[in-house]
Amino acid sequence: MIRYKILPTLLLALLMTGGLAADAAKPIAITHVRIFDGSKVIPDGTVVVEGRTIRAVGAKVAVPAGAEVIDGSGDTLLPGLIDGHTHTWGDALTRAAIFGVTTELDMFTSPDFARAQRDEQTKTGAPGRADLLSAGYLATAPGGHGTEYGMAVPTLTKPEEAQAWVDARIAEGSDYIKIISENGKLYGHEIPTLDKATIAAIVQAAHKRGKLAVVHISTEDATKEALEAGADGLVHIFTDRAPEPGFVALAVKHKAFVTPTLTVVEGTTGVASGQTLTDDPRLSPYLTTDEVQNLRQHFPKHGEQRFQNALDAVRQLKAAGVPILAGTDAPNPGTAHGPSIHRELELLVQAGLSPAEALAAATSVPAKTFALKDRGSIAPGLRADLVLVKGDPTASITASRDILRVWKIGQEIPRPKAPKNAEATAAPAQVPSTGEISNFEDGTLKASFGSGWQDSTDKLAGGVSVVQKEVVAGGASGTAKSLAISGEVKAGFAFPWSGMIFLPGAAPMAPANLSNFQGVSFWTKGDGRSYELMFFATRLGRMPAIKNFTAGPDWAQVTVPFGDLNLDGTDIMGIFLGGGPALGTFRFQVDEVRLVPKGGS
Ligand SMILES: [Zn+2]
Repeated sequence: MIRYKILPTLLLALLMTGGLAADAAKPIAITHVRIFDGSKVIPDGTVVVEGRTIRAVGAKVAVPAGAEVIDGSGDTLLPGLIDGHTHTWGDALTRAAIFGVTTELDMFTSPDFARAQRDEQTKTGAPGRADLLSAGYLATAPGGHGTEYGMAVPTLTKPEEAQAWVDARIAEGSDYIKIISENGKLYGHEIPTLDKATIAAIVQAAHKRGKLAVVHISTEDATKEALEAGADGLVHIFTDRAPEPGFVALAVKHKAFVTPTLTVVEGTTGVASGQTLTDDPRLSPYLTTDEVQNLRQHFPKHGEQRFQNALDAVRQLKAAGVPILAGTDAPNPGTAHGPSIHRELELLVQAGLSPAEALAAATSVPAKTFALKDRGSIAPGLRADLVLVKGDPTASITASRDILRVWKIGQEIPRPKAPKNAEATAAPAQVPSTGEISNFEDGTLKASFGSGWQDSTDKLAGGVSVVQKEVVAGGASGTAKSLAISGEVKAGFAFPWSGMIFLPGAAPMAPANLSNFQGVSFWTKGDGRSYELMFFATRLGRMPAIKNFTAGPDWAQVTVPFGDLNLDGTDIMGIFLGGGPALGTFRFQVDEVRLVPKGGS
């Protein structure tokens, strides 16, 4: 999926979850429980877990001596859920596990992050969080989708480069190969994309090394190309039109699987796909403020018909027996790691899958598709990745949200309730009472609080804009110095920008509570061009709130109250001053940058 203005947040610090190996505990027997084993239902059975492993499953299974007995009457035991399309970093895997997701199939993240998780999984089994399998970097054209997130993605342009590119990914640890076929037209801005011959060469190169190759698509034409190129699976469903006759036959002929990601597709129709999750008392106590905010976001509205097209396509694929996998594309707008799998299950049922088929799409089907032989079902010898829910999700799918307990490799996952308004109640930032940020009088970019100033350009998104900064003589109100920001906004990214960003949080892009102040003010003068002040805030997801100002020949004060942009100052991650999207060279000065005290000006 395509996002617009992107923050420099994407490479957050690794979060390593510790934990001890889990072989010592006494056996667990879950009795009188409805068992959905990944494909069928045992209405009243027992499951025995020893250490990391499921030992016995069935209607007539003896409880071993000394076992901890859990009475599952009225409850259903599911295999740990597998989210078939995520972008994973930070604490995503820990968060996902709280909601019953014990494996994530990442479709693009930092290979370093993925390697660290894999190492831990090998060493300890990583109890306490979901497992990660990852594509690592994705295959895309220079300037194509995937290059806009701030990671230096190695790109390619022609078939001859495919094998070396694939081999480099495998050397980095990629579990499978993800390919982008996306010209951006559906989203209103054209971007470079791989041609069919290159896609076919990448697929072949992956197959030569025994790896699956999956393709991001958004249109039916791209879908057909990907299938004809031999792709093993599609990791979205197209939405540009109702499926044409022949599409399903093509998928069947090529034995492809489809991970439609209806959750994020719904988000592109202007609906906040996660809104109902945040209102569901079975989930809401566990959601952080950050997750609630992202679940209530959506992409710019592209039309409801597109979502109907997606549902139609899934309905036809299902009828033809094409394997369907549940995937969320978390953490895109409208999603979160963990809760969104439950929305995806609900939407798959809306698209015509039975509740049991939807549950299979999040358990046995992805396990089979990705050759994960140790999981995805409840059967003797498999990993004890299990979710115990109240009620019967094989009859009413949203019962999957009513989670009682989650285990990964036989160890229970703690499910702490989230403190309410965690971000909003963060201690106020240590701002001087005058609100001063920077006055540049000492000749440096020193700030009186926060993490300081940084260059910010669309290089993060694959653009080529440049910025220079210099503290120069001559400030506002007769002061000695000010900050001159200059550079060039250049074509190269759909929404080019160039400027400086102030980071008010204790760590770069951590939200700061600035709500003791009413907004931001600064003085400016310059070349007469229009500039942008952008606030980045947790609640906005990754799209900033923007206020334009003009830097004219004489010093003038600009004041922007948080409230003018529907913010309250509790979660400000960054304050950007600069040029774009209009192209060209620019130069302006800023001075006396500060927060405006309440009741002040
Ligand atoms: Zn994705």
